[in-house]
Amino acid sequence: MNWLTNYIKPKLQSLVKKRDIPKNLWLKCQCGTMIYYKDYEKSLGVCDQCGTHIRLSSSMRVKFLFDEGKYEKIKVPSNNNDPLSFKDKRKYKDRLKEAQKRTKENDAVIIAEGKIENISVLAIVFDFNFMGGSMGVSVGDSIVKGSELSLKKNLPLIIIPSSGGARMQEGILSLMQMPRTVAAIKKVKDNKIPYIVVLTDPTTGGVCASFAMLGDILIAEKDATIGFAGRRVIEQTIKETIPENFQTSDYLLEHGMVDMVVHRKDLKKKLAKILKFLLKKSQNNF
Ligand SMILES: [Zn+2]
Repeated sequence: MNWLTNYIKPKLQSLVKKRDIPKNLWLKCQCGTMIYYKDYEKSLGVCDQCGTHIRLSSSMRVKFLFDEGKYEKIKVPSNNNDPLSFKDKRKYKDRLKEAQKRTKENDAVIIAEGKIENISVLAIVFDFNFMGGSMGVSVGDSIVKGSELSLKKNLPLIIIPSSGGARMQEGILSLMQMPRTVAAIKKVKDNKIPYIVVLTDPTTGGVCASFAMLGDILIAEKDATIGFAGRRVIEQTIKETIPENFQTSDYLLEHGMVDMVVHRKDLKKKLAKILKFLLKKSQNNF
């Protein structure tokens, strides 16, 4: 029977079975260019053709951020609850489960400790793929935990938001994360620990209106949308047409809302330079 089971059967199976083609082998940029996944990694998720900074998952972001892609992931408190038993077309609980399965993360942020050009830092990174990077109680918990760790370990804190704002499925509890996160960040700042925010596409709503705009240095990634209310809502409220580039990184820089706009390939170097400067300043007790 051996020749049958060892030789003929696998041969037959290989003829019948579908080949395992990895998913997400290609990505499509908004300009229409198809990008091979390995090239996408090499170019840090920036399209070679049009320069679009494609949104990164939190795991990809930290991999690009830290020296040799090495970091220690800090367990995010698991507090995925559904205080309102919320349901629209689907149950909030089901949406959460689906997002957890798809992104393999517990919620929309991760906390990671690693080195940027040999400087140890703590980073809190959002993932837009997880329910639009929205901020609920669990995300608030992570920001508080990350801030406390940064204080305890005396490590500079970097937050990289990518979020549509508060998580409406948690109602008022999600809005309460705004003052809560601001209070947590204030403790970091009061202790003269550098706090840097890298605003990526998109940073909007309650995230933009809380901890995200409080960095000692505000870096915006190229072509990111950053703002509180949406364009249409503002136009309807003030009854005026707003400029085409309104709420973009460059517009915010021109109007003094961010300190610099940085291309993703220069981000690490720029962060290292800022960290060195700020750490020197805090050591000298300025
Ligand atoms: Zn493109």
